[in-house]
Amino acid sequence: MLNIVIFGAPGSGKGTQSARIVEKYGINHISTGDVLRAEIKAGTELGKTAKGYIDQGQLLPDELIIDILASTLDSFQDSKGVIFDGFPRTIAQAEALKVMLAERGQEVSIMLDLDVPEDELMTRLIKRGQESGRADDNEETIKKRLVVYHSQTSPLIDWYKQEGKYQHIQGLGTMEGIFAEIAEAIDKL
Ligand code: AMP
Repeated sequence: MLNIVIFGAPGSGKGTQSARIVEKYGINHISTGDVLRAEIKAGTELGKTAKGYIDQGQLLPDELIIDILASTLDSFQDSKGVIFDGFPRTIAQAEALKVMLAERGQEVSIMLDLDVPEDELMTRLIKRGQESGRADDNEETIKKRLVVYHSQTSPLIDWYKQEGKYQHIQGLGTMEGIFAEIAEAIDKL
């Protein structure tokens, strides 16, 4: 089983590179952000709750997001592995993921940290907002999301280093070049 955590700040290219990983390795993909946006679109109670947090650039409570993740994980059958995109985002979530996988006799294989300079993240996200119309890709909310990333999410870098799962990926360059570095790291597993 290939359990990959794709990690990085908002705008680091997690979604783009996840799609390539899915294509090459035939594993399942969980993007908690995509799940929440689908709930918002469907107008569910969860979607209404999620919208409040997303529009403010804040994280949803850990318990809520961990429940969502557990049920998505359970929906995969005969899976060759999973790429976790946008999860975990806090130490509590990383610990919960470790337990969830251990209960299934599995573990995280690797954590890929897409490292992109802050000014480049800003440029990419503003451009994405103009193209996709994603409501949280506006300058004010992007700034909040980056603050949240530095305070709540980036401590996971040291956490995964301690777990011996950390892999730095240079997130600047061509999509192909970045993917080549990712594939090299995965193929070594
Ligand atoms: P993303 O598409 O991964 O950038 O996520 C968009 C937004 O969804 C985030 O800014 C959070 O508000 C929310 N979200 C997504 N994943 C998580 C998570 N693992 N924990 C808490 N909130 C999340």
